[in-house]
Amino acid sequence: MSHPIYIGGHWREGRGDVIVSRFPADDSINAELRAASLEDVEDAVTAADAAWRDPGWAQRLPHQRAEVLYRVSDLIMQQLDTLSRLQTRDNGKPLSETRALVASAAGTARYMAAACETLEGELPTRRSAEFMTFSEYEPLGVIAAITPWNSPIASDMQKVAPALAGGNAVVLKPAEATPLMALKLAELFEQAGLPKGLLSVLPGRGSVIGDALVRHPKVRKISFTGGTSTGRHLAHIAADKLIGTSLELGGKSPTIVCKSADVEQAVRGIAYGIFSSGGQACIAGSRLFIHERQYNAVMARLLEVTSGLRVGHPETDGVHIGPLINTAHRDSVSAYVDQARQEGGKVLIGGQAPDDPDLAGGSYYLPTIIEGLPANSQVCREEIFGPVLVALKYKDEADLIRQANDSVYGLAAGIWTQDYRQALTLARQLEAGTIWINTYKKFAISTPFGGFKESGLGREKGRQGIQAYMQQKSIYLGLDSTPMGWSQ
Ligand code: ADP
Repeated sequence: MSHPIYIGGHWREGRGDVIVSRFPADDSINAELRAASLEDVEDAVTAADAAWRDPGWAQRLPHQRAEVLYRVSDLIMQQLDTLSRLQTRDNGKPLSETRALVASAAGTARYMAAACETLEGELPTRRSAEFMTFSEYEPLGVIAAITPWNSPIASDMQKVAPALAGGNAVVLKPAEATPLMALKLAELFEQAGLPKGLLSVLPGRGSVIGDALVRHPKVRKISFTGGTSTGRHLAHIAADKLIGTSLELGGKSPTIVCKSADVEQAVRGIAYGIFSSGGQACIAGSRLFIHERQYNAVMARLLEVTSGLRVGHPETDGVHIGPLINTAHRDSVSAYVDQARQEGGKVLIGGQAPDDPDLAGGSYYLPTIIEGLPANSQVCREEIFGPVLVALKYKDEADLIRQANDSVYGLAAGIWTQDYRQALTLARQLEAGTIWINTYKKFAISTPFGGFKESGLGREKGRQGIQAYMQQKSIYLGLDSTPMGWSQ
């Protein structure tokens, strides 16, 4: 029997197509499973709608809902090693990275539990002697959560934890390539005592299962992380249904080396910012801007650091970069690099799969740096989602800001400088939801995250993270004992 999926609190075989989870390091099969069918979507949403309305759950006090999340957090930490290994097999990220991701998922559950039990309503200043008002937060209902393959446990938890904490039910559709982590997460929630029906996990094709899920009339919010074109499509559906969205989309983030930067710190941060996770991160710092007078020195050191990065089997200690998710994705990364060559770009390092015969069975690609491209070329503008960095020069601050902001995206930006006045001046001018100064790709669950422009709508994380899955109800309490209305 194939791996079961989780529908309305029951483990059973999906009724859709067969999907296969493969280990990107050697293409071996992790698991085969039957995806969800349209009937499974119906069953999951029906169960979710009943479960969040169930008085047993709806009347639980916030600190009682939070208990489930605290238990999930503990379970994750107890199984850190097993879960990291599963995540590495699911998407090929090195174990050092997946350990951090799994631990971050535990942290998210704990933070959202704390946010849930400390979420205050509002007692606004009174505007009348006749009445007083207060506002409370209530759940929205059934949430459709749709996640990508690059950081499954972290992005799944980023949606599931605040949504459940807010008293909602969640139907989670993980990416086709990485169904296993989401199913494992469901197992942990079940062990932690989450009532049946509040969480379902429906692996399946986005355009079929994801689409049917978000269109379902009982779904009251779409929380999505993935590509900008899919996000736009989902925003149209949400607009038709008049429901809310949280959309965490693509990026082409600038990372900037100023004249006063500590070059060693900068080049290591730049390499980490683009090449960790093989560049398969929406926040990857994929456009590098260096002041023209410092360009040669910074590039020389960056090339040295990059040539020292170890591409290899993700289960081997000391490996920096594992395989890309699959060969189709590697082909798309490689096509961008070919195009850069045709457009006059010079590939300074990488630009191909490694020639190590031990890596021939996996979808590996070398860290790649390209220079000499016009800033308006496709390779400088589009999200490649791979280990490809384009290096560009700037003359002065005005030139830098113009070039850095000349993008449809606005997810993140990095600034390397020892001059904090300059850093803040730049940070305030850059159109991006997150700015890292002398650091990159670091996250705190307490800090809101989301994109400017076409990089997204809404914010995840932070205390607002839970409010994004709730709606306020305002209550007016009359205080005047005399009959109201017109005097007669
Ligand atoms: P990526 O390029 O990262 O795979 P996608 O936006 O294609 O980005 O996919 C992210 C998630 O969105 C996946 O779970 C995918 O199955 C889902 N998805 C893709 N197309 C649709 C769609 N039309 N409706 C709903 N979900 C979709």
